[in-house]
Amino acid sequence: MAAYTTLGLGGPAGHLITASNAEELVQIGQRTEEPVFFLAGGSNVVVGDAGFPGTVVLIRSRGVAVRSEDGGTVDVTVEAGEPWDDVVAAAVDAGWSGLECLSGIPGSAGATPIQNVGAYGQEVAETITAVRAYDRVRGELCTMTSDECGFAYRASVFKHSSRWLVISVDFRLVRSPLSGPVRYAELARALGVEIGDRVPLADARAAVLALRAGKGMVLDPADPDTRSVGSFFTNPVLDPAAYAALRERAAGIGEPPSWPSPDGVVKVSAAWLIDKAGFQKGHPRTDGVAISSKHTLALTHRGGGTTSALLALAAEIRDRVHDRFGVTLHPEPVLVNCEI
Ligand SMILES: Cc1cc2nc3c(=O)[nH]c(=O)nc-3n(C[C@H](O)[C@H](O)[C@H](O)COP(=O)(O)OP(=O)(O)OC[C@H]3O[C@@H](n4cnc5c(N)ncnc54)[C@H](O)[C@@H]3O)c2cc1C
Repeated sequence: MAAYTTLGLGGPAGHLITASNAEELVQIGQRTEEPVFFLAGGSNVVVGDAGFPGTVVLIRSRGVAVRSEDGGTVDVTVEAGEPWDDVVAAAVDAGWSGLECLSGIPGSAGATPIQNVGAYGQEVAETITAVRAYDRVRGELCTMTSDECGFAYRASVFKHSSRWLVISVDFRLVRSPLSGPVRYAELARALGVEIGDRVPLADARAAVLALRAGKGMVLDPADPDTRSVGSFFTNPVLDPAAYAALRERAAGIGEPPSWPSPDGVVKVSAAWLIDKAGFQKGHPRTDGVAISSKHTLALTHRGGGTTSALLALAAEIRDRVHDRFGVTLHPEPVLVNCEI
């Protein structure tokens, strides 16, 4: 399966088939007699060296349809296999606001609800109105409202569940030549605006793509730092007591970058924890795997590596961060037939 993942890692599939449209996806979703794994862009999976013994289904359904364009909004339905960045680029070109900060994220539209894809102050939960899915437990098609999707930070009811197969996703976007209010400080600096300002959609997209390229966070065959799953760990979300304990353990090193929520929990930067636990960008460049030379949070395959080596590096990072700061890092990608 290495050829179908952005890491370029993973052993063989028992069978590999392609679903080219929604009907084929539903037909395959009905199969319950053998293990089935649905794979789209392969940009958020780590597949074990033994591969996947069942059937792997490549999701390749395509299509974007405008359902209505009333007033100031536009309702769009996107088929699961549509490449995500094409959707964002088309929205920016059409003057539809709401996805521009999600430019350059690899993978498919149908996978965006799985972990509530987000970047630079936007997440798909803000614009998804419904997800059409095949419920493999009930054996029926269903339309799930945004609330039913259970969106949270890099999470939803779909993640780590084989129950639902996303067939298409409905987005409601705003008809505007301007972006939503810029919420992310680094993006505001890059654009030369204040937090809360709006900028032309194309400017927001260009700035996001440039920031991402500088971190190896857009797919580029010429850049080995992009042979990754993006961020390997999610930013830990700590309750007030755990956050206070972290600050105590970090005293003398500096203040961990953090994003408090109104409900009292605090999200802290996993990249900062990894860096301060002593891991440098580029570490260790053995066994064919290494931390990206541009971003501490991305683990990369440099060629000739294995999933076991990648996961050994991930475990080393997780354990040293825990020993140093008492905080447990959790992997962001879906681990298929492997674990750390
Ligand atoms: C360089 C790089 C940068 C990245 N940056 C970001 C980022 O900024 N923000 C972010 O959130 N993510 C980021 N990612 C992670 C990844 O791109 C996203 O999670 C993306 O949505 C995964 O899409 P995919 O089609 O590749 O999914 P896959 O990797 O093919 O699948 C991921 C999981 O979703 C399931 N799945 C996929 N499609 C369906 C479907 N139709 N129905 C049911 N289950 C499905 C799969 O079974 C699997 O469990 C990055 C990855 C890379 C390589």
